[in-house]
Amino acid sequence: MQQESGKSVTIVGGGVAGMSAACALAEAGLRVRLVEGRGYLGGRASSYLHPGVREIVDNCQHVLFGCCTNLAGFYRRIGVADQIHWTAEMTMIEPGGRRSVLGPSRLPAPFHGLPRLLAASAFTLADKLALARAFAALLRPVAAGSTESLGAWLRRNGQTEGALNRFWRLVVASALNAEIDSIAMPYAAKVIRELFLNSAFAGSMGMARIPLSGLYAGVEPFLAERGGEVLLNTHVEGASWDEATGQWLVCTRNGELLSDCLVFALPFEAMQKLLPRLPVEEGREKLARQIERHQHWPICSVHLWFDREITSLEHAVLLDREIHWMYNQSRLQTGRGGHYIELVVSATRAFAALPRQAAIAQALAELAEFFPRVKEAKLEKVALVKELRATFGVPPGIDSARPSPASPWPNCFLAGDWIATGWPSTMESAARSGHLAAEAVCASLGEPGSFLDADLEPRGLMRFLG
Ligand SMILES: Cc1cc2nc3c(=O)[nH]c(=O)nc-3n(C[C@H](O)[C@H](O)[C@H](O)COP(=O)(O)OP(=O)(O)OC[C@H]3O[C@@H](n4cnc5c(N)ncnc54)[C@H](O)[C@@H]3O)c2cc1C
Repeated sequence: MQQESGKSVTIVGGGVAGMSAACALAEAGLRVRLVEGRGYLGGRASSYLHPGVREIVDNCQHVLFGCCTNLAGFYRRIGVADQIHWTAEMTMIEPGGRRSVLGPSRLPAPFHGLPRLLAASAFTLADKLALARAFAALLRPVAAGSTESLGAWLRRNGQTEGALNRFWRLVVASALNAEIDSIAMPYAAKVIRELFLNSAFAGSMGMARIPLSGLYAGVEPFLAERGGEVLLNTHVEGASWDEATGQWLVCTRNGELLSDCLVFALPFEAMQKLLPRLPVEEGREKLARQIERHQHWPICSVHLWFDREITSLEHAVLLDREIHWMYNQSRLQTGRGGHYIELVVSATRAFAALPRQAAIAQALAELAEFFPRVKEAKLEKVALVKELRATFGVPPGIDSARPSPASPWPNCFLAGDWIATGWPSTMESAARSGHLAAEAVCASLGEPGSFLDADLEPRGLMRFLG
């Protein structure tokens, strides 16, 4: 859809949500201005030069999955889809080093993962039977309105300690970045169906071959070629609607901006801060009350540079300890020299509260239990990155606190991972929200456009279990 009107839109927030909305709308022919408070694009999914270690680090390893169709659509639009490294295998390691590899077989979905699950030494026979029972129960979608938590559902479905600790708490709760009692069952069921049941590709893991911010280098030229622009270091402080001209006046620390439409692509806490500086309108209070119900969950990452390789594995899930995921960045990222390992600890407020030295010491000691070469290796440098506001939780009932892209104001729309996308706090939710907001902008201008990328079709027998 190509707009003939030459209408303009200001998008506030240059994270994945804002960039996705901006690129879709620029492609549709609108004059797009993407306004970001920081000096770089990417928001919570970005990389930067860490002053302590003088290395470019991601603020944390970000993983996507085959089912993330809108994020993939955004990457395609800006020409970086080939910068994602895909893998279908997940290696689980027990303390002491014993490995189990989960991944697909030739069996049709939903049975494709079964042979490797049955062969996994990380699980006892009782664990495997419990997991198989749970997966069978999840073959049919959980009603969207269910108010049960994942924890309650697991207790009701007789899960063993091994299945709880080594699968549900580690793989599923860490993908959703919360404790099992704080996760609404429909979200957990969605993750299980997409990652383990729908198809082998839906569950394959994608990791960027370059630091995250490198992925977005094409956004500015993409917008510029279509008459748009990116304004960095431009913090938005408020906005007002002029009924007479039918335009928005956006106030920034660097001056004022005029446009026909406005999209706020902000995290919920930034939206909350802006609300008092937006026009008083019926609906503003309701939005404020919705935002109040959201809560953050932390993610920490420990970045370690050794003098030698401690493992040739690209990535692994580490069982029974505080550190959850290992990413061998020297192997995953092209052109990355040295021996750089990143460890990720999800959904653990206790780890996030540790002082720096204690957190690093614990991470190193645990890493040595999985990879004994750590004991001989010299640690050359280390960085700890704590993101206390990494994601928002999806506890039972949260859907009524996730607004649609429509806002209380005329020609103004909402995006951001916390908007009603049906997805947990992820880059896919952010990209979806951006595409939904772009559709809402075009509809408001009387030029309906379609930007939402379709979900992957389930494969094999899952086609009949919708
Ligand atoms: C440590 C960590 C690990 C994660 N791991 C994963 C993962 O593995 N996989 C995954 O899919 N997701 C992961 N996520 C979640 C993912 O990063 C987010 O869901 C997604 O990036 C959110 O994008 P967004 O555009 O909605 O918000 P944001 O990325 O927060 O972008 C909002 C932007 O708005 C800007 N802004 C705020 N206020 C103003 C203002 N007043 N004026 C102008 N600009 C403003 C901010 O600077 C920011 O750039 C992780 C997040 C973190 C922090």
